[in-house]
Amino acid sequence: MPIRLAVPNEIVPGERRIALEPGVAKRLMDMGVEVNMEKGAALSAHFSDEAFEGVKIIDTPAELYKNADVVFKVQPPTLEELDMMDEGTIVVGFMQPHINEDVTHKMCEKNITALAMELIPRITRAQSMDALSSQAAIAGYKGVLMGADLASVFFPMLTTAAGTIRPAKVLVIGAGVAGLQAIATAKRLGAVVEAYDVRAATKEQCESLGAKFVDTGVSADGEGGYARELTDEEKQQQRDVLAKHVAQSDVVISTAAIPGKPSPKIIDKDMVANMKVGAVIVDLAAEGGGNCELTEPGHTIDFESRVTIHAPINVPSQTPVHASEMYSKNLFNLISPFIKEGGELELDWEDEVISKCALTHCGEVKSDRYRRVEVTK
Ligand code: NAD
Repeated sequence: MPIRLAVPNEIVPGERRIALEPGVAKRLMDMGVEVNMEKGAALSAHFSDEAFEGVKIIDTPAELYKNADVVFKVQPPTLEELDMMDEGTIVVGFMQPHINEDVTHKMCEKNITALAMELIPRITRAQSMDALSSQAAIAGYKGVLMGADLASVFFPMLTTAAGTIRPAKVLVIGAGVAGLQAIATAKRLGAVVEAYDVRAATKEQCESLGAKFVDTGVSADGEGGYARELTDEEKQQQRDVLAKHVAQSDVVISTAAIPGKPSPKIIDKDMVANMKVGAVIVDLAAEGGGNCELTEPGHTIDFESRVTIHAPINVPSQTPVHASEMYSKNLFNLISPFIKEGGELELDWEDEVISKCALTHCGEVKSDRYRRVEVTK
């Protein structure tokens, strides 16, 4: 039997992305999948219902979820959405298990298989499925545009009849996926870019994109290619070197994160107070609490009429067309290898990607990282 795929409207306020774009819908239908979508679900991402030729448009979420085998989502399902799903449904999307224990619990109770996009292993084979990366790249790009917009200076050097304008100085803190895209974007806009990260491998990556690497002498490589938390001495050492670079920057884009922990606090109040008048911090780590001590997630602060601290959340949602296209392709690349002739789905539990990204399956929390969620049946 071909699977019935359901794609609901994303109900989290401010979420403009959709988990399916028309091209991917067609590829799934060509494989025999029956694709259903809630009426108007993709409008916020600028895709009309008519753009999804051949997709069944369903009026209500209750009707959509009824008899769905697989659900594609961007944001984690809510308890109400889970109530509408049949037992045994497969849900694919971001799950944010660290803040959603009740949802994880309910998915176990309802025997729902949750494939969590944030748990996809960072291995070469899974790069095309890596939604953390596709969405972080968008955040890095957009964060620089926000910084350029808020800045009181031009980014490029300009030679004009009214004199020569020096290029802006941009400092990127955290050179992971978002940070590297931020460097590339700021360079394209003509800024002079410095970058900093605690992982040794990032120096070469930053330099290859044209940024000058700030060496604080702190190296903190952790497990799985991620950074580890710094000791107090390392934090002080980092602060001593970085303070000077922050003070000289027109725009700071901060992206530093440590998996499963609040964002490291790297820019303190004194560092902000020493910044140039008119300088801007775009804190892309705001969702984890932010890299700046003064960050208020989701808000823009004017610090003493000197420095703007902009802390947007869910930045990829602000570029909904490409964010949805990339995300939808990530989902397709994850699921399509297991779609058999006639549109049937057979997940392979021996497959490293499937077994690692499964948050819940057969009434249990499968992910070692989140097994502490107690299941009482
Ligand atoms: P992330 O979002 O967890 O963190 C962003 C950056 O912050 C990281 O580069 C981290 O080193 C840095 N950071 C943490 N603490 C810091 C501090 N105190 N000061 C300065 N910087 C700090 O990272 P990410 O963007 O998700 O990528 C993490 C790693 O995963 C990278 O090595 C990346 O190359 C790798 N990766 C691999 C694949 C793959 O092979 N499939 C895909 C994506 C990413």
